[in-house]
Amino acid sequence: MGWPVIEKPRGLAGPAPNLADYAAARAGFSWEAARRELDGLPGGAGLNIAHEAVDRHAAGPRREHLALRWLGADGRVEDFSYGRLAALSNRFANALQALGVRRGERVFVLTGRIPALYIAALGSWKAGAVFCPLFSAFGPEPILARMGIGDARVLVTTAPQYRLKIAGLRERLPGLRHVLLAGARDEASALPGTLDFQAALDGAADTFTIAPTEPEDWALLHFTSGTTGRPKGAIHVHGAVLVHHLTGRYALDLHPDDVFWCTADPGWVTGTSYGIIAPLCSGVTSIVDQDEFDAERWYHILAAQRVNVWYTAPTAIRMLMKVGTEAVRGHDLASLRFLASVGEPLNPEAVVWGNEAFGRPFHDNWWQTETGGIMIANYAAMPIKPGSMGRPLPGVEAAIVRHRDGGLEVVDAPDTQGELALRPGWPSMFRGYLNEDERYRRCFADGWYLTGDLARRDADGYYWFVGRADDVIKSAGHLIGPFEVESALMEHPAVAEAGVIGVPEPVAGEVVKAFVVLRPGVVQDEALRRGLLGFARKRLGAVAPREIDFRAALPKTRSGKIMRRLLKARELGLPEGDLSTLEEDERR
Ligand code: AMP
Repeated sequence: MGWPVIEKPRGLAGPAPNLADYAAARAGFSWEAARRELDGLPGGAGLNIAHEAVDRHAAGPRREHLALRWLGADGRVEDFSYGRLAALSNRFANALQALGVRRGERVFVLTGRIPALYIAALGSWKAGAVFCPLFSAFGPEPILARMGIGDARVLVTTAPQYRLKIAGLRERLPGLRHVLLAGARDEASALPGTLDFQAALDGAADTFTIAPTEPEDWALLHFTSGTTGRPKGAIHVHGAVLVHHLTGRYALDLHPDDVFWCTADPGWVTGTSYGIIAPLCSGVTSIVDQDEFDAERWYHILAAQRVNVWYTAPTAIRMLMKVGTEAVRGHDLASLRFLASVGEPLNPEAVVWGNEAFGRPFHDNWWQTETGGIMIANYAAMPIKPGSMGRPLPGVEAAIVRHRDGGLEVVDAPDTQGELALRPGWPSMFRGYLNEDERYRRCFADGWYLTGDLARRDADGYYWFVGRADDVIKSAGHLIGPFEVESALMEHPAVAEAGVIGVPEPVAGEVVKAFVVLRPGVVQDEALRRGLLGFARKRLGAVAPREIDFRAALPKTRSGKIMRRLLKARELGLPEGDLSTLEEDERR
């Protein structure tokens, strides 16, 4: 700690914060009232994300308002008004119906940030299908695993992605009936077993009556990772839109005439909840940049698009800090009003740096795939304690708990570390891990949802992130399951065992490091190390390990589980902790 509190400057130009009085908003909050801020489907029954995000604006005075501005990596720009987005998503919904896609079936998208992704998401919701975005930098293994678990019926992708990652492995996806290729048409026509996305849109009508979905109907499947086992498909329902809408207003302070830029990729939950749903629900203009991070490009976008509200992540902020404050100076960022960050711990230095560089601090907020939307945040009208994630959203009850005697104990004393828990009942809570009821049940105890994060709360009710309670790795904001990486390494003929951990790195937060035991007789040398790195990269893509060390053995529990915690402690020279479960011959 030791960082001075940042009081909010008074008298700045711009609209008054949506959440002006935190205590009053909490005290007077009800989800029923939040629901009344939304339309519901025409006729009074049902709730559908796409209606709240697009159609209700398209049917009113915001029809011609710019909903989405897409900035292509090659300099092209494409604008979508609410009316245009409504019509295009109607076309996609009709196309899905023509293909025989039924309600609840999964539509996967693997495209990167191109317009087809946004049209497919909205069209899927309209048709009552379940939208499942995949990170386009994944290699074939994570993609196939997720499509298999999610029982993908339709895949929207691009020709290069299809050729590289799907075509040769399609027999492993027997449930996949239709592949639609977006992007350049000439490329698409050459690939057997695929349809053309644009042709499917062109051949469909631009009017559609939204499927009569209810708040509890499935809308989204977002994959996340745990310490062990396969990736988990977190199920979200149409009712989650209440939280997207509310947090857009409260935690991101969106006002109707704002230009908003969420830099996250929809392959991760932030890019869907806040790159698609929340801004559109608020009727603002949302910027989508196809390209990857580049400091100069980002400052140019902020200035040229006159971005008012910017939602980004600590890794990107740290990369901007490295480039330096001078780089900001040449750009007119006078439009920038509210800066927010999520996904990993935001160091206090970064909050303070934001204040220096932009005249505005970054507002850290916390949530996770399972919560569906922002749960803890620093709000526009609230003083910021640099390094803190802020306070729970009105309508959300958070607590610090400890596991004791087979039950849970709520820790009331301030500044005491424990697990961060939330009281179930907020509408965007995940409704299950697909086909894994037991794993879902284990997330709850004594009436609390257990987040897997360690935290503490101070006397003013601000929450402070301490670390993960499990072994998952956060690298550049991406949650990586060690088991998935270990499994990919084990497929290499030279590898007998693998243990994977995250090691601290100043910009990405953590990077993936693997410890490998080779099969007897295999010679360990630099060529093999490089070969293994390449092997993992080809299979896993962006989540592959950056470093590999060879070991004669890995520390294991007596029941044979690799003790990643111990691997990490030894790697970082930290105390080894409780070794009572360690195999005899490993103790030292
Ligand atoms: P994901 O489900 O991929 O969104 O990852 C969620 C996890 O990211 C959380 O459980 C935390 O461990 C971490 N995380 C998210 N936001 C923050 C934050 N503001 N500060 C620290 N860690 C965060």
